[in-house]
Amino acid sequence: MTTDLAHALDRLPRVALATLPTPLQEARRLRDALGGPARCPRILLKRDDLTGLALGGNKARKLEFIVADALQAQATVLVTTGGVQSNHARMTAAAARMVGLGASLVLTAAPDERDVQGNLLLDRLFGAEVHFIDAASDPLLATGPDEAAMLALVEAELRARGERPYVIPIGGSTPVGAVGYVSGTLELLSQLEAADERPSRLYVACGSRGTVAGLVLGAHLTGAPYRVHGVAVSGGDPAKTGRAVEIANQAAALLGSSLRLTPGEFDTDQSQIGAGYGRSTAGCLEAIELLARNEGILLDPVYTGKAMAGLVADIRAGAIGAAETVVFLHTGGAPGLFAHAAELTAAAGQPAVGQPAG
Ligand SMILES: *Cc1c(COP(=O)(O)O)cnc(C)c1O
Repeated sequence: MTTDLAHALDRLPRVALATLPTPLQEARRLRDALGGPARCPRILLKRDDLTGLALGGNKARKLEFIVADALQAQATVLVTTGGVQSNHARMTAAAARMVGLGASLVLTAAPDERDVQGNLLLDRLFGAEVHFIDAASDPLLATGPDEAAMLALVEAELRARGERPYVIPIGGSTPVGAVGYVSGTLELLSQLEAADERPSRLYVACGSRGTVAGLVLGAHLTGAPYRVHGVAVSGGDPAKTGRAVEIANQAAALLGSSLRLTPGEFDTDQSQIGAGYGRSTAGCLEAIELLARNEGILLDPVYTGKAMAGLVADIRAGAIGAAETVVFLHTGGAPGLFAHAAELTAAAGQPAVGQPAG
């Protein structure tokens, strides 16, 4: 079954953008910090923060298939949308440059969020055109109400200039993009097999849902040993789970599979959203500190901090047996840390920067 799937994947156009395979590592010191072998499962980190594309992250796997599709469509500019600190926008801008295309970004930002820092700084370095729209009226969501209108305007302007825009929906969460995480599933399974590991769960942050769509589809197509546990970082359910099902089923069709998933196959923890997209929580800040201080690994304040907070909460609640093994998919996002410096330094236990003596 997995060889058929590998062949179906090989038939889809793909551009090499990521450094693969990414490492799979056990987080032993994190396990000790969470109570050790008596209380905490083994935790394997799948390091998709190390995909390499413009400081890495999960979008590299999606973009390998999406950018190939754009090149087939003879596009000259990649256009996408997101929050002002969108990792997807940053990686899309970089991917565009790698294949000689332009990049145009529609970013949602409150006036006080427009500092040229973190991902936005990198967007500028890649020479992306940035068009701001106002913050979402609903703080639970990632993007503002004017997104569709601005996108239409940007597209029309590009066409008037003789460009051929290729619009990538938010987060690259399309059936073509989700195929990247079906492929990522095969990579993970081959690493698990080589290490003789049979994890029971896989934890992942959920935003626009293309990643989880690919992961759940991949798990079903391969008979993976684990169940995927999504952790929502923003509002929008149950509509977003409906989107994930649709994306997964269309991705299955692209791979020649008649498999059809239903919402019941998607578990999405809603307990870590806090005040909404991009608003960090106490659990998120604690998780960032835990990984930094015990493993020397950087999580991010928007996605992976909340996803790890969800895993930590499940471990503390005793919902996962200490004899189990879980995979945490590290989806990247560290460039966003720099846009949250104030919250991060205000978090408990941060030593002050030393003052020179005398
Ligand atoms: C985009 C993103 C996610 C979520 O992926 P989706 O496919 O949008 O659900 C998780 N982590 C990071 C760091 C991201 O940039």
